[in-house]
Amino acid sequence: TPPPPSAAAARRRKKKAAAKAALPVVAVVGRPNVGKSTLVNRLAGTFRAGAIVDNVVGITRDRTYRSAEWSGVHYQLVDTGGLVFDDSEGLIFLPEIRAQARVALGEAAAVVVVVDGMAGWNPLDADIVRFLRAEFPLLPITLAVNKCESEKASASQAAEFWSLGVGEPWPVSGIHGSGTGDLLDSLVEGLPRVPPEDVGNDGTINVAIVGRPNVGKSTLLNVLTNSDRAIVSDVPGTTRDAIDETITVGEQKYKLIDTAGIRRKTAVAYGTEFFMINRAFRAIRRADCVLLVVDVDEGATDQDRKIAERILDEGKACVILANKWDLVGEKDNRSYKEAVLLTREKLAVIPWAQVELVSALERQRTKLVTSLVDAAVEQHRRRVSTATLNEVLREAVEWHRPPSNKQARQGRLYYCTQVSVQPPTVAVFVNDPRLFSDNYRRYMESTFRKALGFEGSPLRLLWRGKA
Ligand code: GDP
Ligand code: GDP
Repeated sequence: TPPPPSAAAARRRKKKAAAKAALPVVAVVGRPNVGKSTLVNRLAGTFRAGAIVDNVVGITRDRTYRSAEWSGVHYQLVDTGGLVFDDSEGLIFLPEIRAQARVALGEAAAVVVVVDGMAGWNPLDADIVRFLRAEFPLLPITLAVNKCESEKASASQAAEFWSLGVGEPWPVSGIHGSGTGDLLDSLVEGLPRVPPEDVGNDGTINVAIVGRPNVGKSTLLNVLTNSDRAIVSDVPGTTRDAIDETITVGEQKYKLIDTAGIRRKTAVAYGTEFFMINRAFRAIRRADCVLLVVDVDEGATDQDRKIAERILDEGKACVILANKWDLVGEKDNRSYKEAVLLTREKLAVIPWAQVELVSALERQRTKLVTSLVDAAVEQHRRRVSTATLNEVLREAVEWHRPPSNKQARQGRLYYCTQVSVQPPTVAVFVNDPRLFSDNYRRYMESTFRKALGFEGSPLRLLWRGKA
């Protein structure tokens, strides 16, 4: 029976929020009053003449994410609030804003530094750039010189900001909107392109079926697409020869990625493995959830492990299907557990992935596959509150204090917060990341896992230092 409409609506809202979270984030930074919020409103296309902008220096703002799009590139804008400085001590933010700005920058794919073209060059702008270079060295910077209304004056107003050393200064006016096109062209050049349909705007789950030749992928695909519960439709994939098929089970749509590659047996005698790996890697990249099919009779192999490593690197949800379970004779409760353990052992790089023993040929447990995918995807998109995360962090530190190094410097953990989903990513703010060994990091990750679950999904911890 379908759920009541309110539940369905709630689920749709949840899905929409998750989809939004997958878009690349662009953080907007600058000192107070340079026009950040005005510019954010303008870039997000919601500018109203006369909109109220606060003039109070250092006012705390909640991080609000605004969806925006430019020449087909979808992204989210986040205003980090004002960065406040104290000349005598260099860079100091108000504490709340500091935390907000770090979080926003920690998850950002790019940053727009806004300066005030009317006020001209300011040493605090250089401080901000220095801070970004030191703490977020990989973050591409686009420089917006705001308040450049007059076309004649703007070129020279902007030119003095070349000295910041972050490339071309783009003269813009947040109030008038002039110059924002060129700024955006430059900005989106460096952003990952997430096609809206792949972001799962309609809640579609992208599923890749991968595995070595002959493990039973096409048999499984046939089971999934021929099931009486599935409605199948073809959609062209991203590459010329790739075909994706969409199945609908209940309310949920699943896009099965590159089904052409699964159905068509490669007719080349040599290089099959290369093609297989390459094709699998491409499919993994486009997936939300990967169905890794292995042959339970033969056991998982090194090639399977290679694929598992890629799934981890790409940060995808995963379900392991140990297929051909019908070929295993003498089955009892113990042989089931043993088969699962053996499979896990071989695929120890993704210990969080659920293992299910199936037979595609005899349709054993294949009905479970979509619900296993659902569960993994739900964890992959899950958000945990900052309060809960910090409770776990505090407890973890109490049980096991971070070691100090030879100079007797003690590693200190301040706080943590989830900065993104798909996969869930937690930024852990510490005094100095170098003070934390791999061992301690693994301990922290496993503690988070134990406390919070996240079965089916990778979990990333980002160790971030203080300025
Ligand atoms: P924020 O503190 O950096 O977010 O700055 P706001 O967006 O609140 O703007 C600070 C002040 O600058 C406000 O009085 C705005 O009206 C003004 N302002 C913002 N953008 C422009 C612009 O493009 N031109 C001019 N002349 N003033 C602007
Ligand atoms: P693919 O190369 O991974 O797409 O594998 P196929 O689906 O083409 O299957 C390879 C062979 O394994 C075929 O002969 C299938 O009939 C057989 N096969 C697939 N699934 C099962 C299964 O669950 N049990 C058994 N016994 N054979 C299977």
